[in-house]
Amino acid sequence: MSESRIRRVTGNLVEAAPLPGAAVYELARVGKRQLLGEVIKVQGDRATLQVYEDTTGLAVGEPLQLSGESLTAHLGPGLLGSVLDGLGRRLHQLAAATGDLIRPGTNAATLETDRAWAFRPVVQPGDRVSAGDVLGVVEERPGFEHRILVPVGQSGVIAEIGASELTVAEPIGRLADGTALQLAHRWPVRAPRPSRQRLSDDRPFVTGQRVLDFLFPVAEGGTVAVPGGFGTGKTVIEQSLAKYGDADVVIYVGCGERGNEMAEVLAEFPRLEDPRTGRSIMDRTVMVVNTSNMPVAAREASVYLGVTIAEYYRDMGYRVAVMVDSLSRWAEALREISARLQEMPGEEGYPTYLADRLSRFYERAGRVTTFGTPERMGALTLISAISPPGGDFSEPVTQACLRVAGALWALDAGLAHERQFPAVDWETSYSLYAEAVTPWFESAGGDRWGELRGELQELLQRGRELHDIAMLVGPDTLQDPDRLVLEMARVIREAVLAQSAYDPNDARSSVLKTWHLARLACELYRAAKAALEAGVSFERLDLAHSHRALRSLRGAADGELDALAADAQAAIVALGRAGGRP
Ligand code: ADP
Ligand code: MG
Repeated sequence: MSESRIRRVTGNLVEAAPLPGAAVYELARVGKRQLLGEVIKVQGDRATLQVYEDTTGLAVGEPLQLSGESLTAHLGPGLLGSVLDGLGRRLHQLAAATGDLIRPGTNAATLETDRAWAFRPVVQPGDRVSAGDVLGVVEERPGFEHRILVPVGQSGVIAEIGASELTVAEPIGRLADGTALQLAHRWPVRAPRPSRQRLSDDRPFVTGQRVLDFLFPVAEGGTVAVPGGFGTGKTVIEQSLAKYGDADVVIYVGCGERGNEMAEVLAEFPRLEDPRTGRSIMDRTVMVVNTSNMPVAAREASVYLGVTIAEYYRDMGYRVAVMVDSLSRWAEALREISARLQEMPGEEGYPTYLADRLSRFYERAGRVTTFGTPERMGALTLISAISPPGGDFSEPVTQACLRVAGALWALDAGLAHERQFPAVDWETSYSLYAEAVTPWFESAGGDRWGELRGELQELLQRGRELHDIAMLVGPDTLQDPDRLVLEMARVIREAVLAQSAYDPNDARSSVLKTWHLARLACELYRAAKAALEAGVSFERLDLAHSHRALRSLRGAADGELDALAADAQAAIVALGRAGGRP
């Protein structure tokens, strides 16, 4: 049989023949440099492949070998704290930060191969096990229990297992039929990992961002689309959630965005402390880096790699959050490949299957009970930034995401311009989870959470309307009650919703602080309204004092919260009693 040869090279696409038996998504080594490629189209004995690496210099006539496997993630201990490229190759932090990529064609591993882990079994010889059962644990990071599960497709009676110090390459035991049990296994990244049952969305993923937790909360296992034009704060939100979001494990996928942003993350994250554990947040983080200077085709793979690693930790029973920045770059990679394949283009040149791919990707989120014993609950929350060109949300990627996401955090260029951050537009944003997670917030934060949300939303809404009227006819024409609403909308924006990602005391807002601020803003409105009704004129209301008290509460460290909340309360009571000024 004649050897497979490259027949044609166009950018990152390669046509090769003869390739009898090639399957779509099968991996291949392409050319003399053994570049990694993936079959994306098969016609007879000819196949088209996308090459994940730089194809400069690749020539017609060079050889090509199929691998018989699809792109897999190597899943096992040692993922936490690592930085991977879009194909799962481990990058040294420094190299990743400087954009120093792995030499094309290299076979860098995902997991450290020479590191020994102390394995502690929880089953013993004679036990019958099947997929998802916990075989034992290793301490992956201080205090983090990495549960070693029976892989999907394996079951049987344990013949041998014991406590030992092992690398991921060595067997931890075997089944009676001879199957070796390992610390790690491979999983094809495009295939969702199965779970037993989907659970309802009644627990929030607490973001630590007031405007999100309070107005547009996301459930654990939920999905959010975060579209916004250039400079509206998408990356800052994704990074803030990676730092402060309440998850056991965070997978951060930097997809097609600027390399220097990723470099900043890699420099900053190891120094940040996880408030729950007091340890570096890298201990709970996996970074998948595929920045704009890296080959486009690997972008497509990087989001699947990220979500596969997330499912793996979900299956151990952890609450995992996946941040993707940005899904638009992934969609653009699809578009580029589709155009090269000369497929019939859909809207704006995106392939017609864009929406279908997106929804299948979003479906990998969820809160579930896992397979195996002991029964575990795990969650995968998915929050993806979208970068619509020109900030126009009617474009296909934003629209396709909106159809499947459970919440929309729409970032607004006008708010960003006014430096109102996070620039979440409270008129167009929504959350389908808000009602379901309210009981949780009421028990963790404080009572009337849901009612307060309604009250604040109404004030913001009326404030916007009155603002428009005031712009037309002048603010002096407004009646006192309307002037109060207008002023309160400003107080809410400045003291409650605004939150600087760079303020060490406020970058993360505890549920309690969020509740206090929302509650006090509502109380302030009620007190001021009562004073007006008692005959005090708007001019004589001393709103500024309470406004200042709210702002200092906003910047309160956790230990000062109670005292500053009491101060704000006192200012509000004084205003209500005297209308403020003597
Ligand atoms: P995008 O990713 O949408 O292009 P970025 O996330 O890079 O935008 O944000 C642009 C700039 O906006 C940041 O460099 C920062 O100055 C400002 N910014 C965004 N969000 C916040 C925030 N929560 N607090 C303070 N500044 C912010
Ligand atoms: Mg960005």
